[in-house]
Amino acid sequence: MAGFTDKIKRFFGMQTPLDGGLFDDLTDLLVEGDFGAAEAFGTVETLRALCKKRKIDTAEAARDVLVEILTGDLCFPAPSGGNSAGNAPEGVRVEPGKLTAILLLGVNGVGKTTTAAKLAVRYRDAGSRPILAAADTFRAAAVDQLKLHGERTGIRVVAHRQGGDSAAVIYDALEAARAGAGDLVVADTAGRMHTKAALVEELKKIDRVIESKSAERCLKWLVLDATTGRNALVQAETFHAAVRLDGVILTKTDSTAKGGVVFSLAKSLGLAVVFTANGEKYGDIHPFDAASWVRGFTGLV
Ligand code: GDP
Repeated sequence: MAGFTDKIKRFFGMQTPLDGGLFDDLTDLLVEGDFGAAEAFGTVETLRALCKKRKIDTAEAARDVLVEILTGDLCFPAPSGGNSAGNAPEGVRVEPGKLTAILLLGVNGVGKTTTAAKLAVRYRDAGSRPILAAADTFRAAAVDQLKLHGERTGIRVVAHRQGGDSAAVIYDALEAARAGAGDLVVADTAGRMHTKAALVEELKKIDRVIESKSAERCLKWLVLDATTGRNALVQAETFHAAVRLDGVILTKTDSTAKGGVVFSLAKSLGLAVVFTANGEKYGDIHPFDAASWVRGFTGLV
């Protein structure tokens, strides 16, 4: 929201001396930017201590210190198969001859189907041979939607009828890849898998399928809608606890300028954002860039 960006810019543009009141205002501002209250408080305490140590006394000068703290929050060792948020240039390097499966998880409406198509186009343009698996067999429109993307982009889509078994769709897509048609399967999955038990069961089944088709690598990426704010973190907690995620894709960043949830994902769940999506065109997906995210969040761009 423009309101948040304006506020943070105004805050850090101030030459006024830093005092307790200003730090309190910053805590409130971070919460408004989708930080959790405890995280906002902790971050401001760290900032306060560093400013004191370095004898920094204006809000403007304090911004550089905040940038340093937030950048540090986004740099952590890569989760298995994924990338660290600090250096995630391409999400995953698809190696010729090695079969990779990417499962896109998330609740309905976050942008999974759109993101599956965007990723397939991106990896195809980078030289790999993706196959799209229409494994969201639950939502009536999802299979047709993905097939349409296939027609538009020329990328093969493996689909069954609506209501079918999503693991079976992924099985067929992997088999097609193994038979020589591809080296990457990007699977759209059903958004209904929101309860932990159903999610675990479905994913276990898919895991078994992937194992049986000996994909070299399987990445579970959670798609989150940036406009849902703190609710995105709740979704991430549920999915991560259930199936152990490898990373996150944050969509609809064109609709919100808030970004605090990215820091919560990193700090409280150790989850990296791999890509951000900022529109509905195929090219509107970008590897996550921690430095520019921090700059944007702190009003530096
Ligand atoms: P799914 O239910 O998770 O598969 O979600 P869809 O892929 O069907 O997307 C839901 C809606 O969000 C659609 O209208 C998409 O066009 C839209 N959408 C997806 N990604 C983005 C994005 O990055 N920015 C914007 N503005 N809209 C998006």
